Amino acid sequence: MKILVVNAGSSSLKYQLFDMDENKVIAKGNCEKIGIGGMITHKRPGKDDYQADVELKDHDDAIALVLKLLTDAELGVIASADEIDAIGHRVVHGGEQYKESTLITDELMAYLEANISLNPLHAPPAIKGIEACRKNCPGKPMIAVFDTAFHATMEPSSYIYALPYEYYENYKLRRYGFHGTSHRYVSGKVAELCGKDLADMKVITCHLGNGSSITAIKNGKVVDTSMGFTPNEGLPMGTRCGNIDPTVVPFLMKTLNITAAEVDTILNKKSGLLGVSGVSSDCREVNAAAKEGNKRAELAIELLVHEAKKIIGSYVAEMNGVDAIVFTAGIGENDRALRERICADMDAVGIVMDNDVNANCPRGEAYELTGKGSKARVFVIPTDEEYMIALDALKLAKSLK
Ligand code: ADP
Repeated sequence: MKILVVNAGSSSLKYQLFDMDENKVIAKGNCEKIGIGGMITHKRPGKDDYQADVELKDHDDAIALVLKLLTDAELGVIASADEIDAIGHRVVHGGEQYKESTLITDELMAYLEANISLNPLHAPPAIKGIEACRKNCPGKPMIAVFDTAFHATMEPSSYIYALPYEYYENYKLRRYGFHGTSHRYVSGKVAELCGKDLADMKVITCHLGNGSSITAIKNGKVVDTSMGFTPNEGLPMGTRCGNIDPTVVPFLMKTLNITAAEVDTILNKKSGLLGVSGVSSDCREVNAAAKEGNKRAELAIELLVHEAKKIIGSYVAEMNGVDAIVFTAGIGENDRALRERICADMDAVGIVMDNDVNANCPRGEAYELTGKGSKARVFVIPTDEEYMIALDALKLAKSLK
């Protein structure tokens, strides 16, 4: 069976076409500069990449072009769009309503529209991506896979903020958590690697990328996660501040005489690695500057390490132990030095990494990094959110047959 996975951003649309019988991606690509020009990169394994500037007025144009390329006599991989059994869409926010991947219906679309305020950045492009697919592939089964869904098992003690309770009741102001599809994928994978059932394990998954979050999973259920109402809680990230004293917000508004929207921009776009280092939001560039002696770049990395240790330690306490810890995403998968720094001096909470194995393990594959005397097994596991979305869409397509 063939599954198309679509991840729509405000000016981009990424796609992957999976052949689920072979468990492989047969084509993938990215439409960029949607609404401000247009460009597509289309890739097929073992073949030359195709890249072209094409006018893409909106997401509709992008999906039409993707389908054209997938079925093109020369560049395509399928004869017709009929070969696609289902489409899986990445949707960031499912709110309290959607606790698992869900068939896309008019009701779901109405919910997404009505709840844009929960996620003003990501919801509009996701809606546009879905609508474009509905228009170009009428009747095709489609599923929404939510970043928040995996965290829906949290108890109120983990998701309620200590604010006046009516804000939760009236505005659904609470912790939701994000990156759930990635945390779900790597936690499933680590259970497999340990030869255990996730339902019998205590796992901590560290998704460290441009956006970063850490999740505690006990007996297969998320008990806590570091991102909150928005993806700007928890760790310092590329440009997001993560955990700060909330009273900083009115202080900045008064002191700088700025609006809520301007504070939001500071906290989301000008903080984190970029804000502290003044160098870049890209961890590689911050690392390089730190190596050359840039003290603020070094401090930015140290803040990330410090917060990661605090969160991991608190999750070990919360779960009363940990059987496995996983590093994933751009930084987690590639930055060996950062992994070493996070795991250093954590033996008191049962975590010891083998620094030699960590320094020499192959890139791009799942690998065990557990050190001598560690109670928890330590792993690096490349994440694959698209595959997880494809699996959910496959399940749906089969259930509809
Ligand atoms: P996103 O959250 O946008 O999906 P990624 O998971 O791709 O982001 O992670 C991007 C981050 O990964 C960037 O900060 C980048 O610098 C970092 N990264 C990628 N490769 C390396 C590396 N070799 N060493 C350190 N950081 C890396």
